[in-house]
Amino acid sequence: MRRPETEKGDALKRETGTWDQQTRIDKLVLRYWCKIQTMDEDSTTFRALCLSLRTVIADGGARRDLEDHNARIDQLHRQPWMQQVFAAARRFGIDASRPSMEQLVLLQVEDENGEYITVPHPRPGQPLPSMPAAPRMRFVLPDAAPDALAVGESVWPLPAGTLLSMALRTWGPELHDACFKALEKRGNKRRQELVRAALVADTSASGCAARYSATALSASFKQPYLYLLNRADVSRMLQARLGRVPIEEFKRESPRGPLPRIVDRLERCCYNCAPIDGIAGVYPAETLSHVLLRCPVYAEARAAAVQQLCTLAADPAACAIATAARAQVPSFSGAHAETALFVAFRLCMGVGPAPPPSHYPAPPPRAGAAIAPGTPEELAAQAKRASPDFVYDHKTAVATAAWVAALMREWDDRVRTEYNVVMGLSPGFVLARAMTAYVATVFRLRRCRLQATADFASRTRDAPAPAPAAGAPLLDLVPSSPSG
Ligand SMILES: [Zn+2]
Repeated sequence: MRRPETEKGDALKRETGTWDQQTRIDKLVLRYWCKIQTMDEDSTTFRALCLSLRTVIADGGARRDLEDHNARIDQLHRQPWMQQVFAAARRFGIDASRPSMEQLVLLQVEDENGEYITVPHPRPGQPLPSMPAAPRMRFVLPDAAPDALAVGESVWPLPAGTLLSMALRTWGPELHDACFKALEKRGNKRRQELVRAALVADTSASGCAARYSATALSASFKQPYLYLLNRADVSRMLQARLGRVPIEEFKRESPRGPLPRIVDRLERCCYNCAPIDGIAGVYPAETLSHVLLRCPVYAEARAAAVQQLCTLAADPAACAIATAARAQVPSFSGAHAETALFVAFRLCMGVGPAPPPSHYPAPPPRAGAAIAPGTPEELAAQAKRASPDFVYDHKTAVATAAWVAALMREWDDRVRTEYNVVMGLSPGFVLARAMTAYVATVFRLRRCRLQATADFASRTRDAPAPAPAAGAPLLDLVPSSPSG
């Protein structure tokens, strides 16, 4: 099992679109391999490639197990470079038994009828197909739809006068762009498959960051809110998305100083709430969804944030962006409004496979532990505490995330293309600023209120910490298991 610290690192990398690095390395290796293939066969680089290929063929282990043979970090220097090319090609879905540029880019030539036909990549010694005197040629991605070709995206016309024999022997801008685009598409496909598999695994991860990240992401890319000018806003939103805000759910997940870990998430009480139904000792758990959606002490800030969302949802500019992106405008007051709010409050541009963590079933009672007896009222209050903070509706969550994504992408595009973008004019920026302001307000209010709460300082609502044994260091006394 991964340590929570590693999970946090992975979650952070997914949030910034820098996960994983192996796929990026593969892409760079394959780009260089494509370039070498167009080099003169007498060049030192091309001959070195042939020598490396012969080494792989001679090494039975490398031939049998391209990806794992000599793959330990202290053995990598023994791998021939072509072994790494073959392994990268296999990971990119290229037939590694015979990798060729033909699998990345097709060469097409216009025939007498004005239609483009695909010709095989010319190989040394092979006769060239007969062609019109001055054919027009182009590179095309193999998976591009013929009726939706876009220059620079899926098709690259070659300059007039290009010879068929030289089209694939010249590392010109067209071949360069076509190869790079093909590798980028395959690399991103591979990367997002890895991300999705990791998100599914992270739904049951031990660390807060991984679990929350798995609910707020469906793919890894640089999140637009990272462009916000206020660094504190960015930091607070990032922490909220990863569940690493200073609430009891996060603070009591692992031992922190004198505070022992509380294993059962439902026992991590909110110190701002009154007991449920007035039953002493039964408090709502202070989860992220409780703080953002339920806790009554932030009702005023929440109402203001909801009002801002409703105003933005009705804004003509925002509606036009949503319509262009074919995203539904969500309702922040109708059925499943809380799902929509939870997704919007966290600026989710996609939702993962996991429901929000408040929906996780409570840990089963420990073997041999007696079930605490209680009056019907006490049992009812405990059942209320164990029930989710809100009814999560996946369809609403996906629709709201699509709306958030449409607004944020438009802002993201403007940030990239306009140097002096007027931030206030972009609905995506307005949304990001409003939500980060809400998150910041909630946690400022929380800190202010709890500073004046005596039982928070001594944590009287929780079971007391075990008494330290004489002479033993404090860290040995707290449970260290991170699971639960
Ligand atoms: Zn509360």
